[in-house]
Amino acid sequence: MGKRIVIALGGNALGNNLPEQMIAVKQTARAIVDLIQEGHQVIIAHGNGPQVGMIQKAMAELTRSEPDKYIPCPLSVCVAMSQGYIGYDLQNALREELLDRGIRKGVATVLTQVEVDPADPAFAHPTKPIGAFMTREEADRLVAERGYDVVEDAGRGYRRVVASPRPQSIIEIESIRDMVDAGLVVVACGGGGIPVYKTEGHHLKGAAAVIDKDFAACVLAQQVEADTLIILTAVEKVAINFGQPNQKWLDSITPAEAKVYMARGHFAPGSMLPKVEAAVEFVESGPGRTALITLLEKAKDGVAGKTGTAIHR
Ligand code: ADP
Ligand code: MG
Repeated sequence: MGKRIVIALGGNALGNNLPEQMIAVKQTARAIVDLIQEGHQVIIAHGNGPQVGMIQKAMAELTRSEPDKYIPCPLSVCVAMSQGYIGYDLQNALREELLDRGIRKGVATVLTQVEVDPADPAFAHPTKPIGAFMTREEADRLVAERGYDVVEDAGRGYRRVVASPRPQSIIEIESIRDMVDAGLVVVACGGGGIPVYKTEGHHLKGAAAVIDKDFAACVLAQQVEADTLIILTAVEKVAINFGQPNQKWLDSITPAEAKVYMARGHFAPGSMLPKVEAAVEFVESGPGRTALITLLEKAKDGVAGKTGTAIHR
């Protein structure tokens, strides 16, 4: 029977620049349409690390070259631009792959805002470096003019660091649900979502942050009542003692086992740890929910239980 599946696409599904992305999305579309062809409902979330860095840098260059004409572009707007640009490529690749297989199905990207808590401690401790390296003078100016947080990065120069707060809820969730129920293939929560917080009245204000896409996909999967959360990344399985002689690939683990491994530091912060944390949170959010972490090209085999690391009760 068909399942409702949220797929979180990692960096290797999109490439590092424009031509790479054009090529990468073709393979990504094949992997996704394989699941659609098997009767599953698929909702797609994705990362945006290289893309948002590229856009932020381009916008900052514009301000630098013509400061009287262009004011700096807020990071939330850069995330929105990355959603549009990535959605454009994904939508087209999916459309083409579906039509090539004779499947008539609409594909739509939802520019998705994700609510964050302005009191999230992550705002007081920005950790995520983005964009280009700067000189001390440039950095000082941005600190003074824009209130940016800047760190000196290993003797190579200064870089802006941004907060990575936890996603609380998805503003467009009802539209996303309606579109999924109507049979559309939906791309949502790109780059973790445009981070916003509620101010007076119904106003939403963009936050200078980049949300982790694994956590955003976890919230999305819960809020669309998915059966499965699949996190597609650059490894076929999750390992303990990763990269060491006693490395052991994991086929299937319970949330309780995952928590023990997390506490023992088996998963690297910023890469595998958020995936396992997201998987555990999703599985514990309701009965019958499972998560899978595997390689993009193994998605179909993973859903069939043949590979990947499954997290379930
Ligand atoms: P993505 O762009 O898909 O989010 P990341 O680079 O953030 O990819 O995370 C995936 C990477 O995590 C893998 O390529 C692997 O190098 C690394 N990793 C860290 N710890 C582990 C582990 N315990 N098991 C498997 N991979 C791990
Ligand atoms: Mg990552």
